[in-house]
Amino acid sequence: MVRQGFELGKALVGPGERIIVDVPLPGLYTETTVNMPVHVLHGRREGPTLFVSAAVHGDEINGVETVRRLLLQPQLKKLRGTLLVVPIVNVFGFHNQSRYLPDRRDLNRSFPGREQGSLAARLAHIFLSDVVMRADFGIDLHTAAIHRDNLPQIRADMSLETLGPLAKAFGAPVLIHSAPPEGSLRHSAASENVPILVYEAGEALRFDEVSIRIGLRGIVNVMRELGMISLKRKSPKPSAVLRSTTWVRASSSGLARMVAKLGDVVSKGDVLAYVGDAGGDDEEPIAAPLSGVIIGRANLPLVYEGEAIFHIGRTRQASLLEEHMDALHDGDQFSLPELVEEPEIV
Ligand SMILES: [Zn+2]
Repeated sequence: MVRQGFELGKALVGPGERIIVDVPLPGLYTETTVNMPVHVLHGRREGPTLFVSAAVHGDEINGVETVRRLLLQPQLKKLRGTLLVVPIVNVFGFHNQSRYLPDRRDLNRSFPGREQGSLAARLAHIFLSDVVMRADFGIDLHTAAIHRDNLPQIRADMSLETLGPLAKAFGAPVLIHSAPPEGSLRHSAASENVPILVYEAGEALRFDEVSIRIGLRGIVNVMRELGMISLKRKSPKPSAVLRSTTWVRASSSGLARMVAKLGDVVSKGDVLAYVGDAGGDDEEPIAAPLSGVIIGRANLPLVYEGEAIFHIGRTRQASLLEEHMDALHDGDQFSLPELVEEPEIV
């Protein structure tokens, strides 16, 4: 039986076709029209529909490069099912190099949105109804906020039966079992029975080669797990699962000298940073309040009292993480013979 076409807006994408559908958004006040391009790849054969989105936060550009490389993968010619790729969801924030929308709202706290709501609510509504609700599963790509860095990590509600195997298949160094915050895409998508993985890696307004490559490999791994592409390759290294995470905050304002790096496994009491003033030598150590792994870190040495400097996750699987970190350092992680290789961004 011939597979039916996939309709999006006014477009009908036939089996075996890939096209870019421009979904109309509210325009700029300069009378400039604005669209959200959605790449629709409709396989010849039946299979699940997966969406992959980036730049829900407009300054988180790492995921945009990740999906650009995804769209070049030759395996997509033999796709089963349908792949919807949205390289830039928050077109407005991306233009302004800003996490937020011009109305200063956070798109990832504006879901499910409303057709007649604020600019953020309208964009959330359009993305949710035109893309997310058309899919069976999703992967949403993020980075840490500006001046912060995240160890590549998957965040997922592992209690969702269908999501656990996909979260594991991704193969990120760290997997965090967490409930999504109210208003987030992940929360609204789960309410619509579209389970999604959030991949967090790297820093806003930067390309980070390690994060891009782990992200690309992870998406391909999930597509293989879903049967959308066939690829002979080793199963990914198991992720270290974190059941809870804690922020470590500066106890005073000043200049921070960071000691701990992303991916470090630390013990309770280890010094993570020293905070002092510009002139003196009166430095205060910031110690780890618990044993765990550093999954997020501030990069800017200027800190206020109370500012979150380190994000630590508790895990009983530190050795798994250490294996991942060793692989990152020896470069093996990045030999992707089945994938299109590109020169590294340095
Ligand atoms: Zn984000």
